[in-house]
Amino acid sequence: NDHSLDYPPSPEEMDWSIHYPAYFPQGHVGSTSPTGEKRVEWADVGCGFGGLLMDLAPKFPDVLMLAGMEIRTSVTSYVHDRILATRQSQSLLPSDPSSTSASIPASTSTSPDDLPTQRQPGGYQNVSVIRANSMKHMPNFFAKAQLSKMFFLFPDPHFKLRKQKARIITTPLIAEYAHVLRPGGILYTVTDVHDLHIWMASHLDRHPLFRRIPDEEMVGDEVLESARTATEEGRKVERNKGDKWVACYRRVEDDEA
Ligand code: SAM
Repeated sequence: NDHSLDYPPSPEEMDWSIHYPAYFPQGHVGSTSPTGEKRVEWADVGCGFGGLLMDLAPKFPDVLMLAGMEIRTSVTSYVHDRILATRQSQSLLPSDPSSTSASIPASTSTSPDDLPTQRQPGGYQNVSVIRANSMKHMPNFFAKAQLSKMFFLFPDPHFKLRKQKARIITTPLIAEYAHVLRPGGILYTVTDVHDLHIWMASHLDRHPLFRRIPDEEMVGDEVLESARTATEEGRKVERNKGDKWVACYRRVEDDEA
């Protein structure tokens, strides 16, 4: 429940150093790193077990900081541990990929332990997960126009009519997403539930700050490909040979609305 949820009063009071220690020194608060160049730019809302985060982190090591938001405590700690373990194993990689222990001649005095180790660029330092109720605290974590991508992948369908207001895409929430997403930014939705697809698309279609990106324009988009296939839910749908419905939206300029 909410009482145990930890969230900053405002984005400028958020301590990201626990999440991105390579970029935010301990004790630093605020949405942007001290050098002014790093901040969370992509958010995976309801990230589940973190498949998208792990897939994107090494593909986009420099351009972004990526955060998952997840409400379930156990799932959040699973993702947290998964990221830490991957960072750890990455930081132990030999600096030269060709100089693995297997390629060292037995006669040499260099033991594998002496191999220079190095943090891989990115090294999953750009990815993290926060335990949060994204339906309540989005503006606590992210400043206006901070994000350039938001992902809503296989969200809970809430089939029953009286439960539909609990869906993660509703008119009031879309206004919050428009607040944290910068003009030009993209909101991705993917689901295997056709009814939910229609719901999300029709609500977003009606919102003046979002314009549907024609599916043809998204063909070949590497990030969309990950969004469709890299999450645990997306993989499950794939195994079951289920359909996937995609709708992507551009956040337009305020004066275009
Ligand atoms: N996106 C993931 C995937 O594709 O595998 C997970 C999909 S799962 C069906 C939906 C996830 O959203 C669950 O892990 C759930 O705990 C999380 N969730 C639901 N409501 C949430 C909320 N208000 N804030 C954050 N996460 C939420």
